Amino acid sequence: MALIVQKYGGTSVKDAERVMNVARRITDVYKAGNNVVVAVSAQGDTTDDLIAKAKEINPDASKREMDMLLSTGEQISISLLAMAIEKLGCPVVSLTGWQAGVKTDSKYGSARIKTIDTERLMMELDNRRIVIVAGFQGINKYDNITTLGRGGSDTSAVALAAALGADLCEIYTDVDGVYTTDPRICKGAFKLDEISYDEMLELASLGANVLHNRSVEMAKKYNVKMSVRSSLNNNEGTYVKEESQVEKMLVRGVTRDNDCARIALCGVEDAPGKAFQVFEMIAKAGISVDLILQSIGDGKTKDISFTVAEGDLDATLELLEKNKSIIKAREIKSTSDVSKVSIVGAGMVNNSGVAAKMFEALSDAHINIKMIATSEIKISVLVAQKDAEHAVNAIHDKFLSK
Ligand code: ADP
Ligand code: ASP
Ligand code: MG
Repeated sequence: MALIVQKYGGTSVKDAERVMNVARRITDVYKAGNNVVVAVSAQGDTTDDLIAKAKEINPDASKREMDMLLSTGEQISISLLAMAIEKLGCPVVSLTGWQAGVKTDSKYGSARIKTIDTERLMMELDNRRIVIVAGFQGINKYDNITTLGRGGSDTSAVALAAALGADLCEIYTDVDGVYTTDPRICKGAFKLDEISYDEMLELASLGANVLHNRSVEMAKKYNVKMSVRSSLNNNEGTYVKEESQVEKMLVRGVTRDNDCARIALCGVEDAPGKAFQVFEMIAKAGISVDLILQSIGDGKTKDISFTVAEGDLDATLELLEKNKSIIKAREIKSTSDVSKVSIVGAGMVNNSGVAAKMFEALSDAHINIKMIATSEIKISVLVAQKDAEHAVNAIHDKFLSK
């Protein structure tokens, strides 16, 4: 008897028909003699709708209350799915995050799972019940409900698979697997049969929201066998696994991330310790900086620009304004009209000329590059947001056209 953990995303359970479809898929696996634990997301746009409802009442609501609200979306879908499975005549129980023993830290809105106390889960499985667990949520040491960040149900599923020692963790979604880029914005995108944990982690972190990046981090850490596939057909999906088994491709995928904003500190004094002062201040406020660019300057002053997540822009500007007298910039400029476009591939490390080829694609498409960052496995550029889709297509054509 195998233990299979499955995860169904919001579009897979968006209405009664889809919930019944998912229930049939689960009961088929159960009836074949397997134990099944399922993590489920909120239906369709429920989470977005709940956020909009909160904003109507208080745009500055505390993160604790936001988590209390957002966790309700998943509570609806687990109960409906359990009812659908009851209708198909199989034993089932739905559990919220705390009932399933999911313990997190206290960072409301982006909590990390610390442990899963599996006693209740094991008891239900021993009784041969199908267990439906609310994704995206857990409980902290104060017994308060926390959520794991947008897209976090993937991480719930992998954490359950790791804690229970599952044989396989299947992530069911609305596309056939992991593609070379978002198939919604690039017609030429094609499905990958397999991908390494490291490459998938980069893709997910750089904007491929088909998987929550922490789910990949966790799958790698606990060696969880993971696949991504469609809940609407029986096509083979994409296996995410250790690198040694995966053929190294120069470029495995292209991503776009609109969730970024650029801040430029113009005319900063060109003296040792200036960058340290600025970035230490930002780090202490718990804000992550991504791309950084510093100009050579004219000997007396220089410009420092960097990007942060769009949601952190106001807080960063406020902080810089408050510390104006220390930073002494001539001018502070900012824009959120930018996107980060990246390529990822483990084969890049041994190949020169990859960056030049990426820049050629952008040049041919008349797209201006605002910032550049590279590592062994990825190259990112910042472009105007209006150019991002075009950039993804141009770069994909250059490296991955079939
Ligand atoms: P779910 O609700 O099932 O969690 P998501 O919307 O979070 O689904 O993720 C699936 C979506 O991710 C797809 O519909 C697709 O548009 C998008 N996506 C972005 N990049 C990729 C990629 N490289 N491969 C596949 N899908 C991608
Ligand atoms: N419902 C949550 C969200 O929309 C979690 C998830 O779907 O994974 O972000
Ligand atoms: Mg998702």
